[in-house]
Amino acid sequence: AEDQIRQMQKMEAIGQLSGGIAHDFNNMLAIVIGSLDMARRRLAGGEDPRVIRYLDNAAEGARRAAVLTGRLLAFARRQQLSPEPVDPNRLVNGMAELLQRALGERVEIRTTLAEGLWPVHADAAELENALLNLAVNARDAMPEGGRLSIETSNIPASGDGGPAGLPPGDFVAIRVADTGVGMSPEVMARAFEPFFTTKAVGKGTGLGLSQVYGFVRQSGGEVTFHSAPGEGACVTILLPRWTGEALVREARPALEGAPLR
Ligand code: ADP
Repeated sequence: AEDQIRQMQKMEAIGQLSGGIAHDFNNMLAIVIGSLDMARRRLAGGEDPRVIRYLDNAAEGARRAAVLTGRLLAFARRQQLSPEPVDPNRLVNGMAELLQRALGERVEIRTTLAEGLWPVHADAAELENALLNLAVNARDAMPEGGRLSIETSNIPASGDGGPAGLPPGDFVAIRVADTGVGMSPEVMARAFEPFFTTKAVGKGTGLGLSQVYGFVRQSGGEVTFHSAPGEGACVTILLPRWTGEALVREARPALEGAPLR
C-alpha cells in the first residue's frame, strides 16, 4: 500500500509539474524557433555554409523539443484540476482521522480553524492530497512525536497587491506547522525541487513538496515556507478566495468552457 501511494504521488506530481513546465517551455521554444527562422531568412547566401548548418541543426533541435513538450502537455491535460468552491475548514475536519492515522499516535494534531472562513478556488482532492503530503513530511520530521498545527485564516485584499507577491485579491491561508527537526537553509532552498529528498532510498520520492507547489500554483495561489534546524517547519498555502469564476492561472483550454459547479 505504501508503494502504491508513493507511485500515485509520483505520477500526480509529475503530471502537474510537467503541465506547468511544458507550458512555459513551449512559450520559450516558440521564441527560439521563431528567432532561428528569422536569422535563417536574413542570410544572404554569401556566408560560411557552416553557419546555415548550425542554424538548421538548432532549429531542428528546438522543433523536436517542442514535440516533446507537446506530449507532456497532453499527458498533463489528462490530469486536469477541477476547481470548485472548497471550504478548507470542512476539508480539514473531514481529514482528521486520516491525518491522525498518517501521523501516528505520538503526534498530536491541533487545529485552529477561523470562523467565517471563505471558500477557496481549488480542487478538493488535490488539496487533500497536498495536506496529506505535508502531514507525511511532518511525521518523518518528528520521529519522537510532537505536534502538528493546522491553522486557517482569511487574508483580505490589501491596497498594494496580494500576499507573497500575488496579484491583489482575497486569499485564504492554510498553515501547517510541526515541531520536528526543521531544515537547514541548504535543504530549505532545495526542498521544493522535484526529486530532492534527504530521506533514505525507498522512503522519500522528493515529490511531495513539488506536488504541493504545482497544485497551489495552478490554483492561482502560493506556498511559503519557514524553518530552521531544531525549530520545526511551517508551510503556508495561500489559495484564492472563490469568486464564482473559473480563474485558472495557466491557459488550459479544456477547463475554460467547463460549467461552474
Ligand atoms: P520527500 O518527503 O519524499 O523527501 P518532499 O518534496 O516532500 O519529498 O520533501 C523534500 C525534503 O524536504 C525532505 O526530504 C526533507 O528533507 C525536507 N522536508 C520537507 N518537509 C519537511 C518538514 N516538515 N520538516 C523537515 N524537513 C522537511
